[in-house]
Amino acid sequence: MDHFGRTIDYLRISVTDRCNERCLYCMPEGYKGWERKPDHLTAEEILRVARVAAGMGFRKFRLTGGEPLVRADLTNIVRGMTALPGVEHVGISTNGTKLAALAQPLRDAGAGTVNVSLDALDPEVYGRVTGGDVKQVIAGIRAAVAAKFECVKLNAVLMRGVNEGEIWPLVLFAAEHGLPLRLIELMPITTTDVLTEKNFMSVEEAMALLRQKDELIPQPDWRLGFGPAKYYLLKHTGARVGFIGAMTNLHFCETCNKMRLTADGKLRPCLGDHGEIDLRDTLRHAPDDAAVRSLLQTALQRKPLEHSFRGSYQPCRPMTAIGG
Ligand code: SAM
Ligand code: SF4
Repeated sequence: MDHFGRTIDYLRISVTDRCNERCLYCMPEGYKGWERKPDHLTAEEILRVARVAAGMGFRKFRLTGGEPLVRADLTNIVRGMTALPGVEHVGISTNGTKLAALAQPLRDAGAGTVNVSLDALDPEVYGRVTGGDVKQVIAGIRAAVAAKFECVKLNAVLMRGVNEGEIWPLVLFAAEHGLPLRLIELMPITTTDVLTEKNFMSVEEAMALLRQKDELIPQPDWRLGFGPAKYYLLKHTGARVGFIGAMTNLHFCETCNKMRLTADGKLRPCLGDHGEIDLRDTLRHAPDDAAVRSLLQTALQRKPLEHSFRGSYQPCRPMTAIGG
C-alpha cells in the first residue's frame, strides 16, 4: 500500500534501453545514449529484485524496454521469474518485430500475456512512425496467437495527422483476430517536442471517430490485464477497444497499481515523475536482501499522488531507459 491507499502490486521492469526501432514518440531525434556501453542489470539481479518484490506483495510483473526481445537471455529471465514464489503473472511488452521466432519459447518459459505495439497497418505509415517493417510485427502477432498466450493485446499511440487514419483499420484488424486494442494518448515522456497541440489526439476524439463507424458499449467490468484502460465493446464489429487517457483523464492516477525498475537499476515510483532510487549499487554490494527490500519500501512511500505530465514536466531520459 502506498501513502495514498493504493495497492501497488505490479512491477514493470525494463530489461534493456536498446531497441531495434525508433518510434517518433519514444526515441528523441539524435539520441546518443546508445553509444555508451550498457550497464544493465544482469538476469540474476533482475530475478533478485523480483524475488524480494514478490516477498513484499508484488504479484504481477511485466518485462519491457527498450525492446525486451533484443535481450538474448529474456526467456531465461521469464522462466526464472515465473518460478518465484508469489509471482502470479509475467507479461511482455514488445514491438513485435522479433516475436515470430520468440513467441513460443516465451510462452513455454511461462509468460502469460504479450502486449504488441502496432501504431499502423499501412507499411508506409508504420515505417514513418517506427522506422520498422510492419510485416514482421504481423508475423509476430500471428505467432503469439498460435502460441496460445492467455491474452495478446495490441497498443497504438494516438497521433493526429500521423496515424489517425489507421485507427479504424486497426480496430477491424483487432476484431478479425479477436484481440483487444488499446488506444493510448501521447505523453511527453522522452521529449516534449513530440507533443504539440497539432499532433495530440485525446481518447475522447478517438472515441468520437469510432462512434461514426460503430456503437461503443462501455464495459466497466472488463479487466483485460492490469493496466489503466477503460474498455468498450464495439457493437457491430465485436472489437474490444480500451482507451488510455493519461493526459486528459484527471482521475487517471487514482487507481495506479505500479512501480518501475529501469534498465540500469533505478526504482521509479511513477513514469511521469523524475524521482528515482538507485538499486544497482545495493544489488552489487549488499548480500543481504533486507537492504533491497528497504529501498523498495522507500520507493513505494515516495510514489507521488499523480504524474506531472500536465504540469511543468521536463523529460530527462528516454522512455526506452525507463521502461514503458
Ligand atoms: N518496445 C516495446 C514496445 O514498443 O511495445 C516495449 C517498450 S515501449 C517504451 C512500451 C509502450 O510505451 C509502447 O506501447 C509504446 O507505444 C509506449 N510509448 C512509448 N512512448 C510513448 C509516449 N511518448 N506516449 C505514450 N506511449 C508511449
Ligand atoms: Fe522501441 Fe518500443 Fe520505444 Fe518504439 S516504443 S522506440 S519499439 S522501445
